[in-house]
Amino acid sequence: MPLAENFFDSDTFALTRNLAGFFVVVFWLATAFWVLKDARRRIDDPWLVAMAALLGLFPPFLGPIVYLFVRPHDSIEERLDRELENRALEERLAERDLRCPVCRGQVDASFLVCPVCTTRLKQACASCGSPLEPIWQVCPYCATSVPPGSTTSDDVLQPLRVRRSS
Ligand SMILES: [Zn+2]
Ligand SMILES: [Zn+2]
Repeated sequence: MPLAENFFDSDTFALTRNLAGFFVVVFWLATAFWVLKDARRRIDDPWLVAMAALLGLFPPFLGPIVYLFVRPHDSIEERLDRELENRALEERLAERDLRCPVCRGQVDASFLVCPVCTTRLKQACASCGSPLEPIWQVCPYCATSVPPGSTTSDDVLQPLRVRRSS
């Protein structure tokens, strides 16, 4: 086929081949760069990031696909966010987990007395009857000032708050 041979020898073919090769290389580097960027968002360990970057380069195009399968599901930021959320939730639960100092029955922060053993837990506001924290100098619910000495000297519930070690 003289025509085809002619075409394959022509400058047009050489140019097309070079252009195609150029685009393949650019695409290869772009995918590798994307892997590097994505790995840095998701992986903390610099060695693992370096390995992911290598995988992005070799084998070309296949490496990034493999990376997609093995990469961590969440970004570092998302993991930190979730950790903070969990800690806040735990703290809120710990706050709620109040127990009577005498009978260890579960009590609420708003209880004035323990419903199980009738131990006095908090003083009530003289005006509105709301439970007062020992350090309060004024009732936050009705703005009546709390006379000094009218609340228990220390919060009986405080030492019994369950603190989870984080
Ligand atoms: Zn009790
Ligand atoms: Zn009050």
